[in-house]
Amino acid sequence: MASAFTHAFAAVALTKTMSTTKRGWRFWTLLAGSAVLPDADVIGFPFGINYGGLLGHRGLSHSLLFAALWSLLVVFWEFRAVARCSEQWWRLLGLFFVATASHGVLDAMTDGGLGVAFFSPFDTTRYFLPWRPISVSPIGVGGFFSGRCAAVMMSEIIYVWLPLAIVRSFVEMLRKWRARERK
Ligand SMILES: [Zn+2]
Repeated sequence: MASAFTHAFAAVALTKTMSTTKRGWRFWTLLAGSAVLPDADVIGFPFGINYGGLLGHRGLSHSLLFAALWSLLVVFWEFRAVARCSEQWWRLLGLFFVATASHGVLDAMTDGGLGVAFFSPFDTTRYFLPWRPISVSPIGVGGFFSGRCAAVMMSEIIYVWLPLAIVRSFVEMLRKWRARERK
């Protein structure tokens, strides 16, 4: 896994890049939580669930199907007031899907562990992206705050935080420039 902070940061940065709508803390908490949620699969380790299995770490919970089902659940439950299948409804669904699915994409860019079962349960092959610059974060909070913490955070800042912050600033500049042009 990449660290939980980085999954949450990536989801928030991506959403702020894709959408200009002002939203409250509840939305952002839920969105950041959605990006961290796939790693809840680590609770399987003490119960003897095999890492490489269907329900193992980076398995079904990291798949695109999980991201789709979870985002549907969030939109049905949390945004009941939004008319189903309206433009706003689809947009919310898309934002939560991207936030949740971004988790697997970042994990597939790490240099350790098994790959990500993007297409589970239909195809349980574990995939990595061709470019894997992110140092893998140790599993569990205790492991993360051990000696490797600084090296992991540094690689996440360089390869995730900085590029996303740059893209977001660039898009923001374009938006402001376009708004000025329209005046
Ligand atoms: Zn993960």
